[in-house]
Amino acid sequence: MSVRYGDQSAELKHARADDPDGQARRSFASQQATLRRLDKAFVAFFKRVGEGRAPGFPRFKGRGRFDTVEWPKDGDGCRWDSRSGHSTATYVRLQGVGHVRVHQHRPVRGQVKTISVKREGSRWFVVLSCDDVPAEPLPATGAVAGIDMGVASLVTTSDGGRVANSRHLAATAGRLADAQRDLARRKRGSQRRRKAVARAAALHAKVRRQRLDGAHKAALALVRTYDVIVHEDPRITNMTRSASGTIEQPGRNVAAESGLNRSILDAGWGVFLTILAHKAESAGRTLIAVNPDGTSRTCARCGHCAKENRVTQADSACTACGHAAHADVNAAVNILGAGLALRQAAEAA
Ligand SMILES: [Zn+2]
Repeated sequence: MSVRYGDQSAELKHARADDPDGQARRSFASQQATLRRLDKAFVAFFKRVGEGRAPGFPRFKGRGRFDTVEWPKDGDGCRWDSRSGHSTATYVRLQGVGHVRVHQHRPVRGQVKTISVKREGSRWFVVLSCDDVPAEPLPATGAVAGIDMGVASLVTTSDGGRVANSRHLAATAGRLADAQRDLARRKRGSQRRRKAVARAAALHAKVRRQRLDGAHKAALALVRTYDVIVHEDPRITNMTRSASGTIEQPGRNVAAESGLNRSILDAGWGVFLTILAHKAESAGRTLIAVNPDGTSRTCARCGHCAKENRVTQADSACTACGHAAHADVNAAVNILGAGLALRQAAEAA
């Protein structure tokens, strides 16, 4: 038989009644949220079993692994800005813990809805999700752009502008690749392995923060400059990219020297597009996703499509008309063209 969320939630009520001292320190709503996550993991697991696939069994999360606690509602077991009026610093009050001072990275906009506390290595983070975040429309610029996402440059625009992956991120990605190789050499259960795991986890967390920071900056620059931004559809991008050789062929950038390192940088595209979508919506900009198929092999001037057009990773030169361009810029121009054609077709319909 299977135990579902409803049963466990009822059981939790009893467990709390039996152990008033221990359990009352934690909020009921927060514990329920944890059970809901567990339920979600199992529902997804059995769905995959039902489809005849071979899923990974949801892993048991011990103390060291269970690193996020969520409170689904501000004020229920948890209060954001709990000492406002008493202190100029920001605090969050956690039931069973007390007031905890928070170093705030960005001002909070809108109504705080849920509060999560997350551990990454030895550092703790408070993550807020907000409702009714006010939109901040930006004045029209009349400019449109296609963007090509890559490894050496996170983003290349059809105007020829490039936003490089930050040097810091590239350096951390390199150290993380080393740490993961080191980890693979360590014997299971050994003291050295435990240390290597901690080191890799800390670097992973750092990569995530730097990636987020770089993505925020790049996305902000784009929505300030362009009314319409066309990008590759991420659902089809990865496959096409490896087929067209972007991932197999090393780039010129030092940061892109190893496969592992490159895959760490590649993973930033999803984060970047999510942030870009949020900022574009808030600023009243239009985002268009297009099928990236052929955008790197097609000449942006005459439309001739051949894989010979791609001379090296960095350069493209058309075998039909001789048009030479940076390969990423050529691709970005094609992406823009595809996006504008899509928009025209949609307006005509
Ligand atoms: Zn051409």
